[in-house]
Amino acid sequence: MSSPDPVSIRIGGKCPTCGRPTEARFRPFCSTRCQQLDLGRWLNESYRVPGPVLEDDEAEAFSQNGPARDSD
Ligand SMILES: [Zn+2]
Repeated sequence: MSSPDPVSIRIGGKCPTCGRPTEARFRPFCSTRCQQLDLGRWLNESYRVPGPVLEDDEAEAFSQNGPARDSD
C-alpha cells in the first residue's frame, strides 16, 4: 500500500501558516490558531498598504484617540 493519508488526499492542501496538513474543519488551515494568525497578518497588511505611512507615535495616537481634534 502506497496510499498516503486519505484525509490529506481529500483536502489536498497544507496550512499556509505553518505548512502542516490541512484539517478539514479549519480549511485551508490546520487549526483555529493558524487561521487566526493568518487573519491577523492579513488584516495587518491590508491596514498598512493603502495610504501614507504614519509615524509610529502618530499612528498610536490615532488608534487610541481617533482623529486629532481640538478640545474646547
Ligand atoms: Zn497551521
